[in-house]
Amino acid sequence: MRLSEIGEFGLIERLEGVLPVPSAEVVVSIGDDAAVWRCNGKLAIATTDTLVEGVHFRRNSASWYELGWKSIAANLSDIAAMGGIARYALVTIGLPGDVEVEQVGELYRGIADICQKFGTFVVGGDTVASPFGVVVSVTVFGEALDEGVPLKLMLRSAAQVGDQVCVTGFLGSSAAGMEVLLRGVEVEPDLAIGLRQAHLHPLPRLAEGQRLVALGVRAGMDISDGLAGDLQKICRQSGVGARIWLDRLPIHGAVRTVFPDRAIDFALYGGEDYELLFCAPREIITAARSALEDQGLAPITVIGEILPDPVGEVILQMSNGAEIKARRGSYDHFGGPAGE
Ligand code: ADP
Ligand code: MG
Repeated sequence: MRLSEIGEFGLIERLEGVLPVPSAEVVVSIGDDAAVWRCNGKLAIATTDTLVEGVHFRRNSASWYELGWKSIAANLSDIAAMGGIARYALVTIGLPGDVEVEQVGELYRGIADICQKFGTFVVGGDTVASPFGVVVSVTVFGEALDEGVPLKLMLRSAAQVGDQVCVTGFLGSSAAGMEVLLRGVEVEPDLAIGLRQAHLHPLPRLAEGQRLVALGVRAGMDISDGLAGDLQKICRQSGVGARIWLDRLPIHGAVRTVFPDRAIDFALYGGEDYELLFCAPREIITAARSALEDQGLAPITVIGEILPDPVGEVILQMSNGAEIKARRGSYDHFGGPAGE
């Protein structure tokens, strides 16, 4: 059987079936944004993510600095998705022989800058030859705020019927930025810079995630594969459905200006926004909105609500009240039946 028949997510499920069930101190295993286990009275968190040339980036559209920044950002975003604190990183680089020493220096300048900004230290890694393209693979270790009961974590499996569905920041900017970079769309320089930044210089929402769990948010993830597909994951793992109001999606003016007909599609199905998607009762969301605003953190927008059914589905409601089911949304590395 070919990988494309079962897709990335079907493959991960099969692999999970091959592995023994983890020991009792493991709180979260395969299936969430990061793994979590009990360690000397604390909750340790770990995640890993890889950027591959030709799949995640092209050497002629991303700078080496941006590549370094983004490789760490994607991982910090998964720690943020659990509401955790990011502590240490291991960085593995796979490089073809034609790469210049100075370029690897630039890569590490990007890594150093984002690590410094978010209080994370690179403490090791591995360096290997990679004849067919650059690969940057990062693992980040962190911890939960403190153990406590209930656990101070955001999980994909904890959404409850009646919760509001919220996101931080703007959606679709990264996809719009990628479109501008790869297809050479004609754009005013100011707008182009902002969109490029969204795609290549994302800001993981660590402080926001920590604040949200401190205020009682228990269900969430980061948006790396597109809002619709990622919310479907929350719905499936929580045994619920969701409705999103399309006219409430926070889409930046630059995206609406440059792509008036595609902005909503980018917001729903574009990847790599690295914003947080989370669900909680109205009172908690109201408190969280003002807390984040008071601290100058990313804004929160309520975009929908959790429903009892259809389980695993996301219903899109238009401004005229008409409803349609979101298509299976997640990016699948092997083009398989995504999100099944
Ligand atoms: P994210 O988009 O948040 O990084 P992914 O969709 O990449 O999450 O992964 C989903 C889940 O599958 C995660 O819990 C991840 O740790 C797990 N996973 C992915 N690939 C593998 C693998 N090869 N072996 C074991 N677990 C994996
Ligand atoms: Mg994630």
